[in-house]
Amino acid sequence: MLPVLILGAVTAVGVAGYKLARQCTLCQERLKWTHSCLRCDKVICTGCGTEFDPILRGGNKLQAGGYACPGACTTTMQARGDDLVAKYEAEQERRRKRLERISRVRLVSVNYGGQQKPEYGIRIETGWYSEKSDAEEAARTIAVDSHDVDVVWYVNVTSQKSQGLSPNGRTYYYREWQVVGEV
Ligand SMILES: [Zn+2]
Ligand SMILES: [Zn+2]
Repeated sequence: MLPVLILGAVTAVGVAGYKLARQCTLCQERLKWTHSCLRCDKVICTGCGTEFDPILRGGNKLQAGGYACPGACTTTMQARGDDLVAKYEAEQERRRKRLERISRVRLVSVNYGGQQKPEYGIRIETGWYSEKSDAEEAARTIAVDSHDVDVVWYVNVTSQKSQGLSPNGRTYYYREWQVVGEV
């Protein structure tokens, strides 16, 4: 026998549930290659069961593949799969909308000539970031996630020089950015 074929058989032992002749609960045949129903766990053969592909989305396995008894188990597994896909897609849509909303938040400069109109009069403050755009993104995220608003007023972007210690003991300087404002 070719080594490749032996390897194939060994791999299949793990995934297909190879047992020494289990009896299919549906056709009563004793077979070496059987599965357990995805829903009720009964032993079934590939001839009797309905095959299900794994449901994969965005690198996640939403539902494992395998076999289910025909009838109620198949119907249930199909409905379960549809439900998982619907939930996954709704969640993706929610995330997409959140990110889109965050990207559209207006940061109104403290120097803006017009009227400043904060909704709650709450001061917000980001952490310090090495990129100015990251500090601005953080302010937008706080506006949406913490205060459910789409404009930050009285925005002041400040920077400071900070110092760090490199692995060889040298002091180095870098600039950091912070955004403060009002919602
Ligand atoms: Zn069978
Ligand atoms: Zn079943």
